[in-house]
Amino acid sequence: MRSLLPPLPSGQARALLVNDAYRCPEHNATTPNSAKNSVHMQGLAADIRADGINPRELEAIANKIPAIKGIGRADNQDYLHIDARETPARWCYDAAGKTEAYYA
Ligand SMILES: [Zn+2]
Repeated sequence: MRSLLPPLPSGQARALLVNDAYRCPEHNATTPNSAKNSVHMQGLAADIRADGINPRELEAIANKIPAIKGIGRADNQDYLHIDARETPARWCYDAAGKTEAYYA
């Protein structure tokens, strides 16, 4: 997972925080907005945030990293989901928490 984490612009961020990485099935079942077959249960995903960088800026950085195939931006909770699934997917949760898929 560490190799997936995006390099951050120097001087802009003080810390990259991983909110959520591996989830056991029981934890996944009680996590809001989680997919039943979430890649979090395979240890292939992380939900991250960084001091001084908003989710849109973090998304732009993640988009440049080929190993990151799944990107979900959560504007409503100020984090970015990244993962190493096989088929690329992009989505976001709007301010009301509603899922809006770009493609999946
Ligand atoms: Zn996630």
